[in-house]
Amino acid sequence: MENCIFCKIAGGEIPAATLYEDEDFRVILDLGPASKGHALILPKVHAANIYELPDELAGKAMILAKKMACRMTEALKCDGFNIVQNNGETAGQTVFHFHMHLIPRYKGDGVGLSWTPGTLSEDEREEILAKMRA
Ligand code: AMP
Ligand code: ZN
Repeated sequence: MENCIFCKIAGGEIPAATLYEDEDFRVILDLGPASKGHALILPKVHAANIYELPDELAGKAMILAKKMACRMTEALKCDGFNIVQNNGETAGQTVFHFHMHLIPRYKGDGVGLSWTPGTLSEDEREEILAKMRA
């Protein structure tokens, strides 16, 4: 897609620090990392978000995320690992080309990916179940 920065990076038109590449994906270091080694999985085909991503690529992206998590944990000696994927402005998406964040975690790194747990009322539970089963 024209004017999509991640299309240009994934396609090699704009250089980026590439950790891995195959025919479907490029994995690059994030320019504003949450932690040491924060990387992004970018499909080479444009999809704005998970809703637009073809099933086949969604499956391959998850397998690649697992492979990268294992490899990065071994190489960077991190203590844990988050895989994050944002869809829509409300969810924190800022670049509208599907990507998965690979975030190595280190003890005491202070990376903030937490939320305050709420409560699940009986009414809400039933409402959600009814909507999802409709
Ligand atoms: P999101 O908020 O989920 O859309 O994530 C977008 C991510 O892309 C952020 O973590 C940015 O730091 C990162 N980012 C934006 N532009 C670039 C770029 N040119 N190269 C590498 N990472 C980028
Ligand atoms: Zn794109």
